[in-house]
Amino acid sequence: MASEKIATKLIILAKDLIYLVFYLLSKLFRRQKKISILLYHSIGKNSAHCNVRPEQFEMQMEYLGKKYNVVSLDTILGFIKEGKDLPEKSVAITFDDGYYSVYQNAYPILKKHRFPAAVFITTGNVQKQMSLNRVKLRMLGWNEIKEISNNGVTIGAHTITHPDLEQIDLETAKKEISESKEEIEKNIGRDVRYFASPYGKENEEIVNLIRSMGFDYAFGRLSSRKFIQKGANHLILKRTEIDSSVAFWMFKVKLTKAVEWYQKFEQNSSRIVSRFPFLSKVDQIYNTLSVS
Ligand SMILES: [Zn+2]
Repeated sequence: MASEKIATKLIILAKDLIYLVFYLLSKLFRRQKKISILLYHSIGKNSAHCNVRPEQFEMQMEYLGKKYNVVSLDTILGFIKEGKDLPEKSVAITFDDGYYSVYQNAYPILKKHRFPAAVFITTGNVQKQMSLNRVKLRMLGWNEIKEISNNGVTIGAHTITHPDLEQIDLETAKKEISESKEEIEKNIGRDVRYFASPYGKENEEIVNLIRSMGFDYAFGRLSSRKFIQKGANHLILKRTEIDSSVAFWMFKVKLTKAVEWYQKFEQNSSRIVSRFPFLSKVDQIYNTLSVS
């Protein structure tokens, strides 16, 4: 077991080093457009994996304020669909599920920096208390959702019960998507034009459903690109997830081309590893450490 621990540490070190090399290389491509959309969940003082602590979030926002141009989803949509120009380093900020901590801790920081943001609500969980790996997390109520919506935060739909849309029948998926949209529209008095698939799970049929419901924008995992391109399919956009495992240096790395290069490196290396059975243990440990 001790040897496994050492192996794990060595693999983490190797992984960080590779990231670092890619990060330094990415500095040579300064003029390439790097437009990304960040995905957060909860911003609080809890131990849930999807949580980012308020002081970490504040540091990340300070960094974005200095080095990036924080824009709204609408601005990015203008770039994708109409070819409107955007600064080379632009970022949009989104939150999934609708945790109360976003209102309590992230919203004041966003307001201070005057950063636009979007929150995707799972309507069946509004006002409830959710349990994530035994950590209890309070969810937003309609009053807070209305308040942030009236103050420049875009509200999007994230289904009613947060199912894996690939695993349920199409009729139920349709209900999950359309009724969550309608429920939010009824409560905030605005059109809901954005949708995020729970767990990023979607397939062609789901994308067609989303299209037929008139959404302008949807997030999932079908796109192979981490960065947003002009003319990209706006219904399968990918986001960059930031959670408790992302140290500050990795936050910086995740905003650069290093992420895409690392992804390619990962795909190629697993192909090589599969040819050598004795490397399978390393591969197993490595996969458990995988950063999204
Ligand atoms: Zn979610």
